[in-house]
Amino acid sequence: MLARYRYRIEPTAVQREALSRTFGCARVVFNDALRCREEARAAGQALSSAEVQRRVITAAKTTEHRVWLSEVASVALVQSVQDSHRAYRDFFDSLSGKRRGRRVGKPRFKSGKDHRQTFRLTRNGFRLRPGGRLYLAKIGDVAVRWLRDLPCEPSSVTIIREPDGCYHASFVVEVEPTPLPLVERESGVDLGVTRLATIACTGGTRRDVVNPRHLARAQRELTRAQRALARKVKGSSNREKARRVVALRHGKVARARRDVHHKLALELVRDNQAVYVEDLNIAGMVRNRRLARAVQDAGWGQFVQLLKQKAERHGRAVHTVSRWLPSSKTCSVCGNRMAIMPLSIRHWTCPGCAVAHDRDFNAARNILAAGRAERSNACGAEVRPPFGGRRASKQEALHSRVGNPREWRARQMVTNNEAESRYEIHVDGRLAGFLEYRDVGGVLALVHTEVDDAYAGQGLGGKLAKFALDDVKARDVKISPLCPFVAKYIDKHPEYRVTIR
Ligand SMILES: [Zn+2]
Repeated sequence: MLARYRYRIEPTAVQREALSRTFGCARVVFNDALRCREEARAAGQALSSAEVQRRVITAAKTTEHRVWLSEVASVALVQSVQDSHRAYRDFFDSLSGKRRGRRVGKPRFKSGKDHRQTFRLTRNGFRLRPGGRLYLAKIGDVAVRWLRDLPCEPSSVTIIREPDGCYHASFVVEVEPTPLPLVERESGVDLGVTRLATIACTGGTRRDVVNPRHLARAQRELTRAQRALARKVKGSSNREKARRVVALRHGKVARARRDVHHKLALELVRDNQAVYVEDLNIAGMVRNRRLARAVQDAGWGQFVQLLKQKAERHGRAVHTVSRWLPSSKTCSVCGNRMAIMPLSIRHWTCPGCAVAHDRDFNAARNILAAGRAERSNACGAEVRPPFGGRRASKQEALHSRVGNPREWRARQMVTNNEAESRYEIHVDGRLAGFLEYRDVGGVLALVHTEVDDAYAGQGLGGKLAKFALDDVKARDVKISPLCPFVAKYIDKHPEYRVTIR
């Protein structure tokens, strides 16, 4: 498997000058390649990537206004063209539905005003000198702060200038997985703002991890630095100095946060055979103004990413449970579900079994239980909804491809409660909606539907309602009048209305 090893490098003033030229040329070539492809597309031409490369590098070098491209390492330019090619391809694959997951935006032009600059070199563009220096083509031998050894010969290196003015070399190396011996323990992790993580382990133990809130703590200094920056005249060298102070402070916060995440992730992977976390809608939470800063400060996305990487390397499992698992609302002892559970409530007592709960620990226990159930059940069996034979083909036509080239399918989730059934709706492989059936006065009824905000206004709501109604008909279950989403369909089909005696 591939891994990245990153080191600080200390170029001399002359080398910094050369690096700056390379950043600039790589950027120009990236932009030229994008423009070249766009123009070809507008003209209805198909260009091979070799042809794009020939035009923006080889041919461009002979022209008057791009002659300076020959001053820098051509490996860096070739990699830059390839990066732009990949950005373009990802965008089109995402557009046509060939690429799964989150939608990829149109590639953007790079700007010289971006404070983070990079270029990439493959093996023929760099070498490790016996004395510990790093040779970069057309730049020279650069001093490196080797804080740890590279495990093997790297296949490529990315040179980065961070906004705070520091230079880094990030090497790509092939590392052998190092599986850890089997352990019994598994853990459910509830990520939060008040506590970074609340961990429930099999065996009933609990661990709390405080949220260091690095950004919140640095906020006073940062605010002052930012205010100073805002007062400086645009384009002045004092402004540049003030900008660097802000960037330095931000860099410090990010490094401290990353360090905490690395340590916690490694500890979890070492002590558990499987770790269960919620599949969080972080982008959605960041859109919420009141939560945004705290959510970003906690950095859950980075933490989960590190957790997955480390688990892969050490032969352990990380499993995500649905973001619509009502982990906070459900009593982890008796399964009783509360109607509401506002964020402000940190402790509550279950009316069903009278057990006093800590909100986050209760959620972590539910995540652990749901994750274990899903994983033991063949990793969440992908099922088509239970329709009869003839009907299935009709359903296929109706639901597997609706309108534009988007595939959507329902996945029945495993629940540990008999009186419950849930479906996740996936559009192009991405979780987009949710249906929930529950026991209402002795009959199974549709009680809840949800559509991810990202799909609002795309007609998914209507399709989901139709799907729900077909499922209700096929399985002879009912609809709760409290489920507002399909309520209007009940008027047309009163026979499905649940009546509570
Ligand atoms: Zn209870």
